[in-house]
Amino acid sequence: MALRTLETLGELGGKTILIRCDFNVPLSDGVITDDGRIRASLPTIQRLLAGGAAVVVMSHLGRPDGVPDTRYSLAPITQRLGELLEVPVHFASDTVGPVAHGMRAALKPGEVLVLENLRFDPRETSTVDAERAEFASLLTLGVAAFVSDGFGVVHRKQASVFEAALTVPSVAGLLVATETDVLRRLTTDTQRPYTVVLGGSKVSDKLGVIEHLLPHVDRLLIGGGMVFTFLKAMGYNIGASLCEPDRLESVKTYLNRATELGVDIVLPTDVVVASTFAADAETVVTRIDEIEATAFGASGLGLDIGPETSAIFAGLIESSHTVFWNGPMGVFEMPAFAEGTRAVANALSKVNGLSVVGGGDSAAAVRALGFHDADFGHISTGGGASLEFLEGKSLPGLEVLGW
Ligand code: ADP
Ligand code: MG
Repeated sequence: MALRTLETLGELGGKTILIRCDFNVPLSDGVITDDGRIRASLPTIQRLLAGGAAVVVMSHLGRPDGVPDTRYSLAPITQRLGELLEVPVHFASDTVGPVAHGMRAALKPGEVLVLENLRFDPRETSTVDAERAEFASLLTLGVAAFVSDGFGVVHRKQASVFEAALTVPSVAGLLVATETDVLRRLTTDTQRPYTVVLGGSKVSDKLGVIEHLLPHVDRLLIGGGMVFTFLKAMGYNIGASLCEPDRLESVKTYLNRATELGVDIVLPTDVVVASTFAADAETVVTRIDEIEATAFGASGLGLDIGPETSAIFAGLIESSHTVFWNGPMGVFEMPAFAEGTRAVANALSKVNGLSVVGGGDSAAAVRALGFHDADFGHISTGGGASLEFLEGKSLPGLEVLGW
C-alpha cells in the first residue's frame, strides 16, 4: 500500500520523462473557464524540470470519441501551461505520429512538449487490451520513465494511465501522491467529529460512498437534488423535485443502517421551492412537510436547502475536525439557488482540521462563488476517482503504481 514516488527515479538530468496529467478543464468557446487542473499539475512538472529532465506531457480533453476534433485540441491548454510554467512549452499536433516522435527526439533538458489529445486515438480507451498496450508502447518510445499525475483518470484502465505504467519504469507524481494521501486520511485514523456532506443531482452516484463511509462517520448531512429521494422515502410529498424512485428502497436501508450504527443522518428542515426550473422563477422557503402546500402546489420544485438548514449544516460542519463534501446543496449555477452551497463552503473554510472538497461541480462551485483553494484543506481534482476511492474500489491507475 505504498505508491512508488518520484524519488525512486534517481538522477533525472538529461533524461526524457513522460507524464500523464489531467488537463480536462472546462472550456467555453475555446476559452478555459477554470484552470485549476492545469495549476495542480505544476509542482510535478517543475520538479522534473528542476532535476534537469526534458518533459513530455500527455492528457485527454473531453470525449472526442477516438477521432481528431479541433474543439478538443490541447493547443489552448498548452499555451496556458506555458504562461504558468514560464518555460518554453512546445506542442505536437499528434500523439504517436511523426510530429510527436520528431519533436520528442529534439527536446532539450528543461523543455516541455505537450502532445495532442490522447483521445483522438481510439486505442487510448479501447476495451481490447492489446490495442491499449500497442498505443502505450508508442507513447513511451524513447522515454526513461513514466510519471502518473492525472488523478482524475486513475480509476480508468486506459493506455496512458495503466498500460503506460507497465511499459517503462513508473511512479506517482506529487498530485496523485497528495490526493491519495488526503483521501486515505478520510477513511483511516480520522479525527472526530467526522462529517460528510453530500449533495448534487443524482442519489445513485453517491450510494456507494454512503455505504462505504457510513461506518466511519459521525454525521452525514444531505442536501442538493439527491435529498428529495430521501425525503420521499421518509413519506414526505416532494412536488416536482428530483427523485429516483428505483432508489427509494436502498435509501430506506441506509436510513435504518445509520440508526443502527449511531450515525446522524441530517436532512434539511426547510427548502427553497421554485415555481419552475429557471433563474427568474418565483420562489418560497417552506418546511419540508409543506413542499406541496405552496402556491405552486405539486408542481413546485425544491432547488436549494433553506436558510434554517444552512445554519444547522454550518454549525455541524464548523464543529467537526474532519469534513468531506461532495455535491452542491442546490442549483448553484443560478444565484437564487446558490445560498445553501455558499453557506456550506463558508463553513468548510472555517473547519479546524481537515476539510476536503471533492467533485467537479463542487470544485467549480466554490471557485465560482469566490472562494480560494487555500480556504480548504484540499480540493480534489478528481470527481469520479475520489468517489471510487472512498467507495473502497480498487483503482487500476493506482494499483499499477504499487498502491
Ligand atoms: P459533483 O460534480 O460535485 O460530484 P454532481 O455532479 O453530483 O456534483 O451534481 C452537481 C449538479 O447538481 C449541479 O449542476 C446542480 O445544479 C445540481 N443540483 C443541486 N441541487 C439540485 C436540486 N435541488 N435540483 C436539481 N439539481 C440540483
Ligand atoms: Mg458532476
